[in-house]
Amino acid sequence: MATRKLAPRPGILDIDAYVPGKSKAAGGGPAIKLSSNENPFGASPKAIAAFKQAADQLSLYPEGSAAALRETIGASYGLNPAQIVCGAGSDELLSLLAQAYLGPGDEAIYSRHGFLVYPIVIMASGATPVVAQETDLTADVDNILGCVTERTRVVYIANPNNPTGTYLPFEELKRLREGLPEHVLLVIDAAYAEYVLKDDYQPGITLVDATDNTVMTRTFSKIYGLAAARVGWAYCPPQVADVLNRIRGPFNLTAPSVAAGVAALEDREFATKSAEHNRIWREVMTQELEKLGLVVTPSAANFLLVHFPANEGRDAVAADEHLSASGIILRRMESYGLPHALRLSIGTEEQNRAVLAVLKGFLEGEPVRVKNGAGAA
Ligand SMILES: *Cc1c(COP(=O)(O)O)cnc(C)c1O
Repeated sequence: MATRKLAPRPGILDIDAYVPGKSKAAGGGPAIKLSSNENPFGASPKAIAAFKQAADQLSLYPEGSAAALRETIGASYGLNPAQIVCGAGSDELLSLLAQAYLGPGDEAIYSRHGFLVYPIVIMASGATPVVAQETDLTADVDNILGCVTERTRVVYIANPNNPTGTYLPFEELKRLREGLPEHVLLVIDAAYAEYVLKDDYQPGITLVDATDNTVMTRTFSKIYGLAAARVGWAYCPPQVADVLNRIRGPFNLTAPSVAAGVAALEDREFATKSAEHNRIWREVMTQELEKLGLVVTPSAANFLLVHFPANEGRDAVAADEHLSASGIILRRMESYGLPHALRLSIGTEEQNRAVLAVLKGFLEGEPVRVKNGAGAA
């Protein structure tokens, strides 16, 4: 008998695995990690306590629908808990949506510098990712609509977008929805919604309510500081919630994660403090980096896309190496098609000042100053 080798479905091996932000600097010493848009204050002490307390019952299966969390989210936002589906991070929900609505022969659209989880989940479902060009590093509604074909089934849009930090005003999001055919699912990924302070912004709840083909996803990984716990949620039209509930794992969130999510949402003070710190330092960092001669894309989120000159020795790669040798980790952007930029998460005041000092030294041609035991070997 002819032997056939084990192989995944067609297309799977074309996927480039997601490369997370690094967590160790050159030299391996303690690092200032500003590469993954995490909360520099950690998590609410109440959420940590709830997580620990839930550890006393590790032998028991969790309540499968994360009802306690859905009810707390529902009460906080005025939403029907039956239309909320929780996931192990919002990444799981992005993936479940692809699994449910996409297959071979289908197309799904995302924007040029959109979040790289989208092409992964699209291709993992066997569908074809279609890239819509952006304008000024911002999603362009007309370009997205121009990519729609007979085969289009899903549009993924991060608002604000990671890694650019740019956002679409609600009117534009509405225009996108109105321009898409009815059978196309619009997924609005509002991972950074809590950081946006723009009068013309909305995360998308009213669009979900007004249509039966729009979903909004949210996460506890960013402002709530629970990235390690993996907690996300989707607000869906009833029929989409039903679809997700059919295909998700029956116990897809762990009990400690649900408990932490509930406690995090109830600690308004922690979230407010985080948003306020970010508002101040997003502005200060933008101005100070511009004073150093760098170009910063205006950000609505908790990170900045910082553009470096293209000349060798002063470019983004050299800057990244210099920062890393000084114990500071930013995010390289080659995989996003932005080789001359680094993404910088807003840190604590001390971390932010350290970044500014090291970048100033770098741009002035100073050698690396050894810090935190992380030397330039
Ligand atoms: C960080 C991030 C998420 C959150 O992912 P989780 O799986 O919830 O941790 C989702 N979308 C975007 C655009 C992000 O940057």
